[in-house]
Amino acid sequence: MHAPSLSDRSIEAYASVTGRKRLERLRSLADALADVRILHVNSTATGGGVAELLRSIVPLCTDLGIDTDWLVMDGDDEFFEVTKAMHNGLQGSGPSLTEGMKATYRAVTERNAREFDGEYDFVVIHDPQPLGMIDRLEETMPDAPITWRCHVDLTDPSDEYLAFVSEYTSRIDHAVFSRSAYEIEIDAPTTIVYPSIDPLTEKNRSLDEGTMANERDRLYPLSFDAPVVTQVSRFDPWKDQFGTLEAYRRARERVPDLQLALAGGMAGDDPEGEKLYERVAGEAVDDPNVHVLADLPDARVNVLQRLSDVVVQKSLREGFGLVVSEALWKRTPVVGSNVGGIPLQIEDGKTGYLVDPEDASGAGDRVADLLEDDRRRTEFGEHAREHVRERFLLPRQLVDLLEVAVDALD
Ligand code: UDP
Repeated sequence: MHAPSLSDRSIEAYASVTGRKRLERLRSLADALADVRILHVNSTATGGGVAELLRSIVPLCTDLGIDTDWLVMDGDDEFFEVTKAMHNGLQGSGPSLTEGMKATYRAVTERNAREFDGEYDFVVIHDPQPLGMIDRLEETMPDAPITWRCHVDLTDPSDEYLAFVSEYTSRIDHAVFSRSAYEIEIDAPTTIVYPSIDPLTEKNRSLDEGTMANERDRLYPLSFDAPVVTQVSRFDPWKDQFGTLEAYRRARERVPDLQLALAGGMAGDDPEGEKLYERVAGEAVDDPNVHVLADLPDARVNVLQRLSDVVVQKSLREGFGLVVSEALWKRTPVVGSNVGGIPLQIEDGKTGYLVDPEDASGAGDRVADLLEDDRRRTEFGEHAREHVRERFLLPRQLVDLLEVAVDALD
């Protein structure tokens, strides 16, 4: 396992985007946890929502005076093939789970566990990848409650994967899910905590005009002089980039100069990304108005979400979908599938539209409706900003998570 390098953060800076009361609550929770050492474990330092969250949460806890570490598992391609299959299986469709796959999972999680020799009072395991370390964690820290923070969409998990994961989750002390529909049978208290975006990162903060212009120019040949619809997602079958292409083609029937930006990255623990990227790029190659943009720096993602006329999130499953709040925070309306965490974030007909995940044409129609109505887009954008401010900014999530720690240690 290894500890990613993190930049310092200051909680005081959040006074500019969230109420004072919330910051005071954070400080009082931090006081209650002043002598507590917290460990977060996950399987990638970059790419995807979990790494995104931990990059903010961990240094902010440190700033609040809570001794907090983050360790990332080391794995090889074979392990990440298995854990991606587990992720897919828990979201409802994976290959059959073989004894060989289980053996790979056990071998790598146990190897990581053997390297571990820390001392903590409260442990948070993110997603299924590190669950196999639970024996060693219990053995070395018998008094530390172990929380499983599940970010996966568990609406309709496949039985065999759920049974395998349950071998480990039956031993956790507490589970945290992103929405109530995901509560699977677990013999431990569960809490619902909505994820959040960090409004002060390079990805989400306001940018000065010079940076905006510079990053916008670097997105050339994408042009913001004509309408732009965007999806930002890892290249992953659940994100349904092909459905987004279909929606774009439908919307273009009414908005002929429409452009589509498909920005995507590859997470370190996701072996499927490269292949899907090539397939999506291949599909787009004949249409000069489709721009497939890989691994953009955060400031450019920021500008893209800000300057797009509409953002789409056409996922088939979605644990939460930080990208939805990221766009809404930037006052860009979102047309998103009515799955997983997306309906928590989009207020249908107020900040964007919810569509059936199988209905790409319907998504396209909603995109065109928004593109044809400047006033509606502006109104939706203003509502969206305040909705995210109230519910989906980092200080709120930090309060919820620290409350879980305080309760677990009570
Ligand atoms: N992301 C990014 N560049 C990309 C694709 C994704 O920075 O090309 C970020 C995105 O802005 C968001 C996170 O990765 O912060 C994805 O989180 P989300 O919850 O939407 O989906 P996940 O990847 O965790 O399934």
